[in-house]
Amino acid sequence: MIRVLVWNEFVHEKTEDAVLAVYPEGIHQAIAGFLSENEDFEVRTATLDDVECGLTEEVLAETDVIIWWGHMAHNRVPDEVAERVYNAVLSGMGFIGLHSAHHSKPFRRLMGTGADLGWREDGDWERLWVINHNHPIMAGITERYIELAHEETYAEPFTIPNPDEVLMIGSYEGSEVFRSAVTFHRDNGRIFYFQPGHETFPTFYHKQIQRIITNAVRFVAPVCERKTLGCPHIRKIEKVT
Ligand code: ZN
Repeated sequence: MIRVLVWNEFVHEKTEDAVLAVYPEGIHQAIAGFLSENEDFEVRTATLDDVECGLTEEVLAETDVIIWWGHMAHNRVPDEVAERVYNAVLSGMGFIGLHSAHHSKPFRRLMGTGADLGWREDGDWERLWVINHNHPIMAGITERYIELAHEETYAEPFTIPNPDEVLMIGSYEGSEVFRSAVTFHRDNGRIFYFQPGHETFPTFYHKQIQRIITNAVRFVAPVCERKTLGCPHIRKIEKVT
């Protein structure tokens, strides 16, 4: 069983009608909805309004994979909560950052960079070109590209460290390109960043987008967790005679 926590700041859906119309229960519920169809997933949600953002030590200890969506309220996540998430990833918890989570505190901490990019919001189409059909996150994606009728344009340069692997490159009406699906690892934790998912477009209802996020949950799920971070003092191994 993979224990998944879908975290959403859950602000736009309560303040903007255009977002409420697309995600009436919140983006987190839309994501939790399709993930819950998998019998090997146990899915919970948390938002900014929960005590400690719903990200206490106890909750993180019971989480194998966290999915993060945030946009306008990154700074309302306390530093100590972001640090807790960061440390949980180092220990082995998988982290999936969606769309504007590129600027979330945990993601920037994990990257060690600003994770900046260019953007414009003109409702252009996007084509997500598959770079490696053989990667587990791309399982079942047989097309050369996935087309979204409308997405927010994210453009290079995306100031991230070189990823372990680039799985998709997005291209847009305006000819911009973007590394849209990338993997990293930090200590024992695996990380997947996936660019689609602007709040006014129904991207999270797209079956292939759902498939990629579902595959990613399985890919970043922990293989081996470190219970204690740091550098233990070790003893010399005695020679066996
Ligand atoms: Zn956006």
